Amino acid sequence: MDGILTVVSHPDDETFGCGGTLALHARESKVLCLTCNPRNRMYELRRACNILGVSDPKVFDEDNVFHSKELVQRVTDVIVAERPRIIITHLPFDYHTDHRASYDVVKEAIEWAAHTTTYPKPWLVERLLLMEINTLIPSPQILVDVSDTMDRKRAAIAAYDSQLAKFPWGYYQRFNDKKAELRGAQGNCQFAEFFSEESLAKNGPFYVMKSTRNLLR
Ligand SMILES: [Zn+2]
Repeated sequence: MDGILTVVSHPDDETFGCGGTLALHARESKVLCLTCNPRNRMYELRRACNILGVSDPKVFDEDNVFHSKELVQRVTDVIVAERPRIIITHLPFDYHTDHRASYDVVKEAIEWAAHTTTYPKPWLVERLLLMEINTLIPSPQILVDVSDTMDRKRAAIAAYDSQLAKFPWGYYQRFNDKKAELRGAQGNCQFAEFFSEESLAKNGPFYVMKSTRNLLR
């Protein structure tokens, strides 16, 4: 795949958190959603991905996200099969417990995916980016200009009828517009999405690539 794998807790997290960035890299992006509860949200997720230009998402059948050995294994298998250079997921200090659990699961799955002792063809993810949904990042490191894809992000948000109906005064639309505008002002562009980048540790003798001979390349 060589692209971006976005692992989210719920349908809509991918759009609210990084829909503009996914639309920018639509051909190189895939989405894995860990829950589909209730079921109709899965159809909304498919519709949103279609609007963003991203291929059909992979959806697990969990009701909620818990850090378990089984779920880590399932996510690890996807990482090894898809071989993404970048993974985007939730913040470890997000307000939502499913989001925090997803971060823990993904972080551990990235580690296991790289182990030569676990997989005949292990995969070393290069970068882990953490997105903001309702909890904002105090000191982001990555700013993506999404001015060109903001309209598609708005259209994808509109695909989530069930979620928007919970707040008929337009909370989600307003919050996402204001967030993109705020981040755009900080990033010196019209609209932006912000990410925190987490460096990935390489501990122990498990990795195919262990050393670099040149720090500048
Ligand atoms: Zn969520």
